[in-house]
Amino acid sequence: MPYSYVSYLDCPKCGETYDVNTVQQLCTCGAPLLVNYDLEQLKDNLKPDELKDREDSLWRYHELLPVADCKNVISLGEGMTPLVEMSKLGSELGIKNFYMKDEGIIPTGSFKARGAAVGVSKAKELGVTELAMPTNGNAGAAWALYAARAGIKSTIAMPIDAPEITRKETAVSGANLYLVDGLISDAGKIIGKYVKDNQLYDVSTLKEPYRIEGKKTMGLEIAEQMDWEIPDVILYPTGGGVGLIGIYKALNELKELGWIKGKLPRLVAVQAAGCAPIVKAWKENKTESDFWLNSQTTAFGINVPKALGDFLVLEAIYQTGGCAIAVEDEAMLEEQEKISSMEGAFVCPEGAAAFAAVRDLRNNGWFHDEESVVVLNTGAGIKYPNTVQVEVPTLNKEAKI
Ligand SMILES: *Cc1c(COP(=O)(O)O)cnc(C)c1O
Ligand SMILES: [Zn+2]
Repeated sequence: MPYSYVSYLDCPKCGETYDVNTVQQLCTCGAPLLVNYDLEQLKDNLKPDELKDREDSLWRYHELLPVADCKNVISLGEGMTPLVEMSKLGSELGIKNFYMKDEGIIPTGSFKARGAAVGVSKAKELGVTELAMPTNGNAGAAWALYAARAGIKSTIAMPIDAPEITRKETAVSGANLYLVDGLISDAGKIIGKYVKDNQLYDVSTLKEPYRIEGKKTMGLEIAEQMDWEIPDVILYPTGGGVGLIGIYKALNELKELGWIKGKLPRLVAVQAAGCAPIVKAWKENKTESDFWLNSQTTAFGINVPKALGDFLVLEAIYQTGGCAIAVEDEAMLEEQEKISSMEGAFVCPEGAAAFAAVRDLRNNGWFHDEESVVVLNTGAGIKYPNTVQVEVPTLNKEAKI
């Protein structure tokens, strides 16, 4: 049996197809490319039960991943993160089956590790020796570290106020790191020119086809961890939207394989009120978003004023009957504290935004009774120590308390 059932790439906008065995970036029409698999063949050769004995990483789904030869896999053990029941928060919100998929427990401390593991592995398979990307921090850290493991050189540009730890993670990997006095879109322009001038592999969000495949594994894992009884709702803190596109793609592939049945979960894109282009587009019933001017939020990972894959995010929302919702920074930080004190989970601000969205949607009556709800916590709270302000008493050595 083949290690991967990958077959070809195609463009979701114009339908043009591309070869998976050579380096590809965007379609000539400017849209991101998607990976296709021979699902008919796979359906006959693999049953979901056979996954049970496999390694606890995202590579357990190697048939549904684009790397053709297992010797090209670059792994730090990423994936198969816990699906944690949030029963106290659930009972406060009146949601009986409430879960957090916790991506804080993954190499590099954010779920960007998934996209990087699969993206870098495929890059290595294609013979890439040098890559470049703009980032809001976490993606740069993950790609730089995985690239280091693969022996691939990387050049990363990030906004000067991206979370400090991501700057250090990137630098310590040996990457060429640049700080940009601006937004990720400004960093993107600089990298775009650098890539063109030097003929490099551009691994900006969705400019190569394989990051989605890595993030797709969140959807595969949720389905497997719930014993192929998929939840009613999945909430995702959305910047570039790669995770949401990936989860939607995963669920459709599982459906085609016959491993899951019935209606797909309603997918919810959660954004920060200070940067909510997808929410605005959804409210206006549009199929693409407009550039969000002067975007600002503490949840740095979702500060993306215009996403290349916005039309795919919106399609996933419309097709599943989901929605898009914006959360104020203050509400997400309150929620972050609440989740820590109530459930013992120190989630990242982006994850906290998704939890705060559950509260809002519950209050609006958007959930039905007895629904099962999964929230993606996309990273570790400890990567953002400055989002929590503490005042604690200091004792001298003889003090009594
Ligand atoms: C990148 C990031 C997001 C947003 O992911 P997209 O797939 O770009 O929407 C959410 N949370 C964290 C912690 C991130 O680093
Ligand atoms: Zn196209």
